[in-house]
Amino acid sequence: LLDELQASGLLFPTGVDGVYGLDARFETVVQAVDDLVTREGADDGAERVRFPPVMPMGQLERGGYLKNFPHLAGTVHCFEGDERDHREMMRRIEAGEDWSDTQAASDIAMTPAACYPVYPMLAARGPLPADGALIDVLSWCFRHEPSKQPTRLQTFRMREYLKVGTPQPIVDFRHAWLGRGTAMIESLELPYHVEAANDAFFGRVGQFMADNQKTQELKFELQIPINDGEPPTACMSFNHHLEHFGELWEIRTADGALAHSACVAWGLERLAIALFRHHGFDIEQWPASVRATLWP
Ligand code: AMP
Ligand code: ZN
Repeated sequence: LLDELQASGLLFPTGVDGVYGLDARFETVVQAVDDLVTREGADDGAERVRFPPVMPMGQLERGGYLKNFPHLAGTVHCFEGDERDHREMMRRIEAGEDWSDTQAASDIAMTPAACYPVYPMLAARGPLPADGALIDVLSWCFRHEPSKQPTRLQTFRMREYLKVGTPQPIVDFRHAWLGRGTAMIESLELPYHVEAANDAFFGRVGQFMADNQKTQELKFELQIPINDGEPPTACMSFNHHLEHFGELWEIRTADGALAHSACVAWGLERLAIALFRHHGFDIEQWPASVRATLWP
């Protein structure tokens, strides 16, 4: 599929697995899926916020990402030396030698999931309103998982709705989106199934956490068959965090309890690839019903 996508010009290779240029057709579809998500959620009155693809290192530390997913995280390093250090750096680059120790850790890291910068934003506002907070967020995200599968990117766009508040509305929010999310994929005429899943927690403790997450049904994924001969690909996820982020960020509900949260996430490039895979590389030839859903 990667070869076909590149041969058709939809993806431009860069020489690094999981990092591609995207052509206008691809971008048109990404934009249409994003707009469809906006229409699906339009009646809920979510607050729209956009963060850059980097976030403060301190937020990644406190948000638990480095503890649970050290293998996926990306940090930003920069040159802070003088001219002598610079000459040494250039000498090593020209000699093809390792020059990584000429770079120093900066105070920013790559954003790993669109909702991560939202918790500190909410925490800084003080106790939540009585009906909680509903946030619409989209970010370029980074995960260090290079792969030959075109659906596994190192940087990709994740659109999310995040709800933070008292326990029952959080349960209801995720339940409602399980219904709306699957209806949305049906309207795109894509084959799918939904199943309990787990995040890729690191290490032996992580295996325990993953098993727990799955048996407690804290994560569901909507999976679409995309890569031939491979398991289907998660294109949406429905995550119930209980009070995990409320506790890490000291987010309180109006009555002073730790806030619960849940998010629903769309992988925009994955959904675009799913559409090209199932309806063909020529958008003009897609079923009229699918085109009408995407471009009403
Ligand atoms: P997650 O936080 O792992 O549930 O990711 C949310 C959504 O982002 C997934 O359902 C995918 O659609 C998308 N996603 C996650 N990892 C990748 C990746 N490496 N490349 C492209 N899309 C991804
Ligand atoms: Zn999220």
